[in-house]
Amino acid sequence: MTYKLLLLPGDGIGPEIMMEAKKVLLWLEKKQGITFEISEDLVGAASIDQHNVPVRDDVVEACRQVDAVLFGAVGHPKYDGVEYYDRRPELAILKLRKELDLFANLRPAKVFGALANASSLKSDLVSGLDLMIVRETTAGVYFGEPRGIEQRDGQRIGINTHTYTESEIKRVAEIAYSLSEQRAGKLCSMEKANVMDAGKLWREIVEGMKSDYPQVELSHMYADNGAMQLVRQPKQFDVIVTDNLFGDLLSDLASQLTGSLGLLPSATLGPKKSDGKFVALYEPVHGSAPDIAGQGKANPIAMILSLAMLLKYSLKLDKEAEMVEKAVENVLDKGLRTADIATPDSKVISTSEMGDAIVTALN
Ligand code: NAD
Repeated sequence: MTYKLLLLPGDGIGPEIMMEAKKVLLWLEKKQGITFEISEDLVGAASIDQHNVPVRDDVVEACRQVDAVLFGAVGHPKYDGVEYYDRRPELAILKLRKELDLFANLRPAKVFGALANASSLKSDLVSGLDLMIVRETTAGVYFGEPRGIEQRDGQRIGINTHTYTESEIKRVAEIAYSLSEQRAGKLCSMEKANVMDAGKLWREIVEGMKSDYPQVELSHMYADNGAMQLVRQPKQFDVIVTDNLFGDLLSDLASQLTGSLGLLPSATLGPKKSDGKFVALYEPVHGSAPDIAGQGKANPIAMILSLAMLLKYSLKLDKEAEMVEKAVENVLDKGLRTADIATPDSKVISTSEMGDAIVTALN
């Protein structure tokens, strides 16, 4: 079986951390006998420099043709002040999300034992935490019509509209239910059904699907209570599914439970293709970090954990995904740290040394 992957390293630290993910791919080929057909292309500032656009249409098409896409980060200070929006590197990721209809964003918040002290919460509250937030990303109040700022009765009024269709709720809930089946079997759906009609429909649809997933224990929670519970007792959750707006806030909140941006992977999934696989893009949560680019200081762990998610969710290589996660855990247990997660007594290593250490731990 050959798996087709498209790598889009992007800008800043993107290519540096992608290099470390490639070491893991190479190890999987050599030691696990897995065959990857890997192609690579430009996105972001790197693509504007070469092709005058943040992402070419044939790159978007290529994303549909592969089993999964691994994305680094985009953004470069030289394009910060550009007048034309279509020449901004960040447009690459927005265009990919839109054109590929990537409607479900998966953000795990996992706390590695060795880093439980890096969280802003007490370590006993987060030690062993392993939750996943599934956020709907293509509908809701960020996209609903009508929208705008209008003049009414002598003053301006700002308007946004929160809408969800049944099918928009159903497709993201399906992903959340399936994930729950692959994890601890607990799904919590969050909305504000007490004050929002779209929330009422959300609850009704998610509840109506539960007989299709008998192994999953479903609960519902108002999103404001969800925010409180996430900082009060985060380990009560396994998978959380929620809409675009609440997911934006709750996933950022949950990410802080883990302590560092350099450790956070993510996935965005789109519709199922004819081969039954989702269109899928995996990327670290962080950006291109121009302040440390080219200095060997970037933490490659978020990128390598994004690859682990790719192995698990797109290629169904659960064992290999677990091996990669375990290798990251081992390296952290040994006290090896890039500068962003260093403590006074830890040994600070470079991006490539961290990648090498993770590959060594895989052996
Ligand atoms: P950022 O995530 O790039 O950096 C924020 C801070 O975290 C910086 O101090 C950076 O050095 C540090 N950091 C980030 N990743 C790290 C890693 N792996 N290891 C060690 N330290 C790390 O966010 P920003 O500074 O707001 O944005 C920089 C550029 O990235 C901008 O052009 C922005 O538009 C872009 N951006 C892109 C994406 C994306 O590609 N999906 C996401 C966010 C920001």
